Amino acid sequence: MVIPATPGIKPYATSQKMNETETLTATPEGLARAAAILGAQGLVAFPTETVYGLGGDARSDLAVARIFDAKGRPRFNPLIVHVPDMASARTFAVFDARAKAVAAAFWPGPLTLVLPLRADAGLSPLVTAELNTVAIRIPAHPVAQALLRAFGGPLAAPSANPSGRVSPTRAAHVIDGLSGRIDAVIDGGSCAVGVESTILGLVEEPALLRPGGIATEALEAMLGPLATGGNAEKPNAPGQLASHYAPGAAVRLNAQTRLPDEVRLGFGPGDADLNLSAKADLIEAAANLFHMLREADVLAGRGGRIAIAPIPEQGLGRAINDRLRRAAAPRG
Ligand code: AMP
Ligand code: MG
Repeated sequence: MVIPATPGIKPYATSQKMNETETLTATPEGLARAAAILGAQGLVAFPTETVYGLGGDARSDLAVARIFDAKGRPRFNPLIVHVPDMASARTFAVFDARAKAVAAAFWPGPLTLVLPLRADAGLSPLVTAELNTVAIRIPAHPVAQALLRAFGGPLAAPSANPSGRVSPTRAAHVIDGLSGRIDAVIDGGSCAVGVESTILGLVEEPALLRPGGIATEALEAMLGPLATGGNAEKPNAPGQLASHYAPGAAVRLNAQTRLPDEVRLGFGPGDADLNLSAKADLIEAAANLFHMLREADVLAGRGGRIAIAPIPEQGLGRAINDRLRRAAAPRG
């Protein structure tokens, strides 16, 4: 996948093998370079007050697919969207009076709010895992703030470590885990909080989805007792949610050939109605996955059938196959 040309930025070819990771300083020059990389759908790790985040443009399917690839995540779980201020936050999420009050009290800071997603938010469906809610945060760290302003858009940013490893609190930790898999890291010293943000769900009753940098007691003083049944790692497991998109058409996986009346969703060279990636690039396929499933469903029509080409069970292919198995599962 060749990224749109931006002067001075090397495009990276296909998955895994990337350029050397640049270490940038938290200076106007370093931030301008980081913003240019992000503008070309590249990945930049940056310090926040919690841990280092792995940032990519939250509006870009390709940038977000690259985040999952770089971390080696086996699933498309939703990511936190970082914005510089309330004006920006309100373009992506719906704030009721309660959410406005919590935001006023705790932002900027180590608190993430899960709120209803605005219909016109324009975020990649990979960021929200196709949910109708969004996790959003205004970080307090001056470097994170400066980067968000230099870039001028929302950044999807999970912790900047390979999946399953501990979160990084120094630029050197980021390099240890992700060198060669991301474009750059901004060195902003060590993170003050050192644990992830607290995640508070405000879609229905206030719910603590993950404990973190803001004490539960501080939230309860404002909101009353928080529901704790929620688990931010689980409720969004694709397929378990009513809001998660399931094709109306029947889905056949690992389809080597096309049967009559099937809509074929291809991968790699060959005849297909829609192709996740003609050149068999898993990052491109991940970026196309959610919207092409919907398009294939429309093409198949009511009672139709979709045949999906085999996807290799490696790298991002694991996350793609996880999503596809859910699309193909029998439903009641
Ligand atoms: P990380 O990727 O480590 O930054 O963690 C992000 C956390 O936010 C994960 O636990 C996600 O499951 C959770 N999360 C993100 N978006 C949502 C959402 N819309 N609803 C519930 N949890 C979410
Ligand atoms: Mg993490």
